[in-house]
Amino acid sequence: MKRPIIRFGHDDIGDWVATLNCGHLQHVRHSPPFINRPWVITESGRKNKIGETLNCVRCDKFEFPGNFIPYKKTPVFTEESLPSGLKNDHSTKAGVWGKIILIEGTLQYRVNSLETDIVLSPNKLGIILPEILHSVALLGPVKFYVEFYKEPDFA
Ligand SMILES: [Zn+2]
Repeated sequence: MKRPIIRFGHDDIGDWVATLNCGHLQHVRHSPPFINRPWVITESGRKNKIGETLNCVRCDKFEFPGNFIPYKKTPVFTEESLPSGLKNDHSTKAGVWGKIILIEGTLQYRVNSLETDIVLSPNKLGIILPEILHSVALLGPVKFYVEFYKEPDFA
């Protein structure tokens, strides 16, 4: 899926890396003649690319960004207290990931735009991608909560 670039940095060996607003990183090397991105070596060139989108295959694969930290969680919901809003399509804000964590039971988890429709259990958590519509449906008794993650402050 397309994600906008929010900043640039270097990897360990000095190659340019773009950070996307989902938190994933993507190399944006300039290594002519094979990869030509002369813009990446100037500050103004990079500045012009902020906000442009790149295709994030890590999001497509529900890959949780490893450095994100939990900052908030919901109360524990059951089949009786499940807020109806969670049964309809809804999404988190830009840069906010979530984990649907089951303590007991099962829960249907749907992400239509990624053709994902799976059954969550205590052994199978649900990954919530930033800004991507998703919903859950009851399958029977359940106890679960949702934990939200964001990028740590960076210097
Ligand atoms: Zn991503």
